[in-house]
Amino acid sequence: MQKREIERGEQAEPMKSGLFFKVGAASVKPMCVCRDCPSYPGGGDRVVYCVRGASGLPVEKKGCICPKCRVYKLARLAPHRYFCFNGAARVLKKEARGQD
Ligand code: SF4
Ligand code: SF4
Repeated sequence: MQKREIERGEQAEPMKSGLFFKVGAASVKPMCVCRDCPSYPGGGDRVVYCVRGASGLPVEKKGCICPKCRVYKLARLAPHRYFCFNGAARVLKKEARGQD
């Protein structure tokens, strides 16, 4: 079965992360390449959007380099992208499953 990418018309709302996800995000952060991405909103924003969910800053989509990130491959996040805009991978995966 082919997995579908969830794409939003509007940027998702930022979400509050519990301790479990904060710890997860901290361990993933050294591998995250968001700060090198043309779509990174800047302002020292918190990155690791695949775990933490969408940015609270406006994101202009200019390409997503997540597929170059080790986390992307290890956590099998394809075909989803633009987590800074679309929201956390776990939410997108759940939505994609719901569409099947
Ligand atoms: S997959 Fe994307 S958001 Fe997640 S850690 Fe890698 S670069 Fe950051
Ligand atoms: S989630 Fe993707 S689009 Fe957003 S900053 Fe990270 S690499 Fe770029």
